[in-house]
Amino acid sequence: MEFETKCLHAGYQPENGEPRVLPIVQSTTYAYDSTEEIGKLFDLEAAGYFYTRLANPTTGAVEEKIAALEGGVGALCTSSGQAATFYAVLNILEAGDHMISSSYIYGGTYNLFAHTLRKMGIEVTFVDQDASKEELLKAAKPNTKAIFGETIANPAVKVLDQEKFASVAKELDIPFLIDNTFATPYFCRPFEFGADIVIHSTTKYLDGHAVQTGGVIVDGGKFNWNNGKFPQLSEPDETYHGIVYTEKFGQAAYITKARVQLMRDLGATPSPQNSFLLNLGMETLPVRMDRHFENAVTIAKYLTEQKAIKHVYYPGLESDENYNLAQKYVPNGLCGVISVEFAEGKEQAAKWLDALELVSLEVHVADIRTCALHPATSTHRQLTDEELQQAGISPGLVRLSCGIENVNDLLADLQQAFDKLEG
Ligand SMILES: *Cc1c(COP(=O)(O)O)cnc(C)c1O
Repeated sequence: MEFETKCLHAGYQPENGEPRVLPIVQSTTYAYDSTEEIGKLFDLEAAGYFYTRLANPTTGAVEEKIAALEGGVGALCTSSGQAATFYAVLNILEAGDHMISSSYIYGGTYNLFAHTLRKMGIEVTFVDQDASKEELLKAAKPNTKAIFGETIANPAVKVLDQEKFASVAKELDIPFLIDNTFATPYFCRPFEFGADIVIHSTTKYLDGHAVQTGGVIVDGGKFNWNNGKFPQLSEPDETYHGIVYTEKFGQAAYITKARVQLMRDLGATPSPQNSFLLNLGMETLPVRMDRHFENAVTIAKYLTEQKAIKHVYYPGLESDENYNLAQKYVPNGLCGVISVEFAEGKEQAAKWLDALELVSLEVHVADIRTCALHPATSTHRQLTDEELQQAGISPGLVRLSCGIENVNDLLADLQQAFDKLEG
């Protein structure tokens, strides 16, 4: 099946007389006839549903669809993108371990890495993703267990050189984890560039309608966890009578462990209702993304012509410093998110934002409705000036998430707000 077809048909194919649309199985539990059958499920000797915290048919269909879209061997849905990133790391790192991360990442991910993981004994070194491979390797330590970046960074809208990160990972014999939220698998499939684990906040484009929060971890299935660095996967798990994930589950060791151990113990499971909504959104992903991209290019060009705007960050523009990276990694299109720098800084940005009428101010991106946000006073307000700078955010930076409205209505709204700056 081609990508567009998978968006509609992967994960759920009804048999004769069954519902055409993926049903919501709103049940926490599943009935069995014998203690023996239930026992086998608990021992991971048989596959099947027994409790929705671990697996649910609606969520399972969505996981299968996302794995198919990314080209992975399996996926695990979580109740938010934050939970997905947390589990993806915790599944392989523990107290005493170290990770390298690009500094151009989502504010929530930064907090998780810089503060919460640190409290748990996991140390993260932030690097400039544009540094050379040699420079990046200097951040490595004997206990480095992963490297992390975002396909298109939120909110700096910078494109990651994935092959460079993959080659650093290869040299260190560690996995490359990537947050593919902004590109979506429609525009980029990081496994094709050497990533090992893909993460999404499904709250964004995969849902697209701003109706559910969710996350997903996708396992590429290619990393060799038996290299001595990942005892969590290659040594016996006493909580399952000493099974060894790499032996029992082979290519799917990582994603199976994330489910049967971390989801079992930490429980950030999505509701079946939310999985249904996520699936509904994914059915139209390609159509929406094409329009998000088309509108964003038109709007980005328009913004470059405005006097009040000092800089437009959109790698779809030939003038953008990441244009060549975008041509390589996301050649068919980009997210609808544009970042702009107001010439006169914070107050001018705020005045313009307050003057918008059709475009609403929201702590969100990737919605079909256009919205805008001022990171320095919202999502990134906990960061110091220095940290803001490292993440590519200045006081006058505004993040505009272009929706799928008729672009002329959007341009008219942006223009009337610029007119008010003059007045
Ligand atoms: C929103 C976002 C997250 C966090 O996802 P939630 O669903 O809000 O928890 C992670 N990464 C990126 C790139 C995001 O945009």
